[in-house]
Amino acid sequence: MHELSIANSVVEICVEQANGARVTRVTLEIGQLSAVMPDAIRFCFDVCAKDTAAEGATLEIVEMPGQARCLACGATLAIAVPYGQCDCGSENLELISGQQLKIRQMEVV
Ligand SMILES: [Zn+2]
Repeated sequence: MHELSIANSVVEICVEQANGARVTRVTLEIGQLSAVMPDAIRFCFDVCAKDTAAEGATLEIVEMPGQARCLACGATLAIAVPYGQCDCGSENLELISGQQLKIRQMEVV
């Protein structure tokens, strides 16, 4: 399961960065174009965090909307799928946001 390996690496990174401290809260940025399900991540995070320094940590997920730049006219547009068409008619888009999956912030005690 895709989400399980993602959640596992998130836990691993947090535990490593906490450096022995207890992780209490993790904020994750998930792009809406990344095809990752926030609910699945949440569930898997709890499973993966068990018996680690991140056990019981609150997982906050911030969904980042998709954004692309038109390579023909330079306009920036919001997209809900990883392709689309600009107002100028061009389909030559470069994704600039929405595919990311990263740890924005974490709190330790
Ligand atoms: Zn355009």
